[in-house]
Amino acid sequence: MKCALVTGGSRGIGKAICMKMMAMGYHVLINYRQNDVEANNVLQEITDNGGSAELLKFDVADKEEVQQILGGWIDTNTDQQIEVLVNNAGIRDDSLLAWMTDEQWNGVMNTNLNSFFYTTRLVLNSMMMNRYGRIINVVSLSGIKGMAGQTNYSAAKAGVIGATKALAQEVGRQGITVNAVAPGFIKTDMTANLDEKELKTLIPLKRFGLPTEVAYAVGCLAAPEAAYITGQVLSVNGGLYT
Ligand code: NAP
Repeated sequence: MKCALVTGGSRGIGKAICMKMMAMGYHVLINYRQNDVEANNVLQEITDNGGSAELLKFDVADKEEVQQILGGWIDTNTDQQIEVLVNNAGIRDDSLLAWMTDEQWNGVMNTNLNSFFYTTRLVLNSMMMNRYGRIINVVSLSGIKGMAGQTNYSAAKAGVIGATKALAQEVGRQGITVNAVAPGFIKTDMTANLDEKELKTLIPLKRFGLPTEVAYAVGCLAAPEAAYITGQVLSVNGGLYT
């Protein structure tokens, strides 16, 4: 069975990506950290639509847990291939740098940047043996232009962009592409406390984006036909200047 693993697949952009992966014919591995109800809703929606999926609950920021749960899944499912890995799980914990605590810095780094390392290294092995793979990292406008109040988040996302470009060069010859998608302001729980009315005036398309619009870009990069696109960052931001 060909699988797509989506981290942070229980809500928001990740949920839309899970639905896109289902539509592309993949068995979807829905990762999440804590929200069992929402994760089960995604699972139900996929099966209701004739797709196939399973839940894989682990904290992407926890090296041991990733090794135990994801590593364990890979070891026991040798007949199944993770062809697509979408590193989407992420958090923000904003503060001006002068007031930022160690917990805020480390929490955002672990969840947004270190998680890329923890998950990707486990999945990469079988992709290399299979000589095929699609890795898509969900980054952010903040990681491209930097955002005041988000030094932790901007640094983490910029780090993933660097890792995307480096890994693309490492694994290209094995038929594996590595790209990033950089959303701007997208309507999800993460942006629920932002002043949409004011912020949308800055966006050329004059609105926040939808999770499905990000999932569309991820789906394009995950397609077999995207074989010659690698090491790229695709912005999905309504035309905000980056
Ligand atoms: P969201 O609505 O807050 O959903 C976050 C998802 O990530 C949930 O499924 C959550 O699982 C999961 N998650 C969080 N921490 C996790 C952890 N440690 N381990 C495993 N799963 C974890 O966020 P979103 O807006 O969809 O954002 C998705 C990605 O897009 C993030 O990387 C974010 O930085 C990026 N992004 C978003 C925007 C935007 O405007 N929304 C803009 C730029 C970039 P639970 O349900 O279990 O909590």
